Amino acid sequence: MPFQNLEETILSSNLCASCGACQLACPSDVIQINDLYPKLITTTDEICGECTDCLNVCPGLNTGVSESEQQLFGRLRQPEERWLGIYTSVYGGYATDSVVFESSASGGSVTTLLASAMKCLNLDCVVVAGRDDQRPWRAAPMVFYDPAELPKAAQSTYQLFPHLSILKDLFGKNPSLRIGLVGIACHMQAIRKLQRIDNKWGEIARKQILFTIEIACSSSTFPSGTETLIEDLMGISLKDVKEVRYREGNYPGEFVVYTKDERKISVSLWEAVRHFKEHKSYRCLSCGDWMSGLADISVCDGDPNIFKSSQQETSHFAKHGSIFVRTETGAKVLEWARETDALNIWPTTVAGVNLGLDRKRNRRAYYEGLKALIPESPIPGYQEIIDVVPDEQLIPLLNKND
Ligand SMILES: Cc1cc2nc3c(=O)[nH]c(=O)nc-3n(C[C@H](O)[C@H](O)[C@H](O)COP(=O)(O)OP(=O)(O)OC[C@H]3O[C@@H](n4cnc5c(N)ncnc54)[C@H](O)[C@@H]3O)c2cc1C
Ligand code: SF4
Ligand code: SF4
Ligand code: SF4
Repeated sequence: MPFQNLEETILSSNLCASCGACQLACPSDVIQINDLYPKLITTTDEICGECTDCLNVCPGLNTGVSESEQQLFGRLRQPEERWLGIYTSVYGGYATDSVVFESSASGGSVTTLLASAMKCLNLDCVVVAGRDDQRPWRAAPMVFYDPAELPKAAQSTYQLFPHLSILKDLFGKNPSLRIGLVGIACHMQAIRKLQRIDNKWGEIARKQILFTIEIACSSSTFPSGTETLIEDLMGISLKDVKEVRYREGNYPGEFVVYTKDERKISVSLWEAVRHFKEHKSYRCLSCGDWMSGLADISVCDGDPNIFKSSQQETSHFAKHGSIFVRTETGAKVLEWARETDALNIWPTTVAGVNLGLDRKRNRRAYYEGLKALIPESPIPGYQEIIDVVPDEQLIPLLNKND
């Protein structure tokens, strides 16, 4: 049975990134995402017969970056573009709207660009990271039709969830919706692969997903990271949780739980990140991409060391993001945001880059050295040549016991 190919190649090798794309791509609609992982819900060989679309769309092992780059840019990235991919320009930026700015992770460029894309590309809705209705501490995809609502879904959600599976429901109800999507590297890789698949869902994705924006990703975390942080470290019962925010308040923000009896309880970002360390998947730890380089625009923190900022009583960093423009659509949306004064931007460079990227490079180099089965590199066969520095040395804070 072809679903077995996905099981054998991806699931049993712990390479599933929990993106939800296989459920979306399946033409027979026989995949369900059970919590984080896909499961076949038929035993009939005729239904799951000859097709291998679930494996073809999957970014778990084969990320499809080269084919996607060839299609998007007409060329492949060069070794000096290994980590940041192909882009035309890079800007520092932040939202001029104070609500967007305050509610965002690193200045609200993403929220602003999503809102601008809705207007200038005439999108019906955008897909963002939200929360599960029944379990408000669990991440879930969410759809917004009104740009004014977008700040509710701002900030980073450091939790794995099947982000793309919501598209099946959305397009199932209305295949002509014009959609924008924010996600992380594995989501973008899956979307680009889906757009090459020769079935109904591939065709809809080619025509209707009209804007993509990605945020950098050092690594995500199993839901157990958030759950144990809330229960064990913060002493809050999950049944008392009303809302969870990962980057709330003054930059760089704190991990905050709002309870049903109106309490607000927080821990610093660096403490939360230290806790999350024990709740990582093999796919995330061995991941070869900080940004996929395949979205119209990519955004990361402008701050080169968010952990240092989190440790300080008051951060002196002027909250902003770094915005990488990759496609014509990306340039058009950014220009709209600038012209309408929604976004303050200035040209910048990528020198000094980012601690999250350093962590990722080092982890990746370590896994490449193991010669284990790991997700493919965006440059086939490329190997990091660096002396691996363990996380604990990159961020001494993460080792502290207090
Ligand atoms: C797991 C993870 C790891 C990250 N690692 C790094 C890093 O190493 N270095 C770095 O510079 N930046 C990293 N970021 C990105 C950074 O935290 C900010 O999200 C980014 O700078 C954009 O800030 P902003 O204020 O412009 O976005 P905002 O205006 O706050 O909007 C963020 C948007 O992203 C969406 N979103 C948040 N989390 C997810 C998710 N998990 N999946 C899909 N969509 C999501 C939200 O719904 C929102 O629409 C990471 C983010 C995540 C989620
Ligand atoms: S995508 Fe194809 S192979 Fe995969 S489960 Fe669906 S029908 Fe089966
Ligand atoms: S990585 Fe995505 S497409 Fe691949 S098995 Fe996991 S959920 Fe499905
Ligand atoms: S580390 Fe890689 S696989 Fe994990 S969530 Fe981030 S982009 Fe996806």
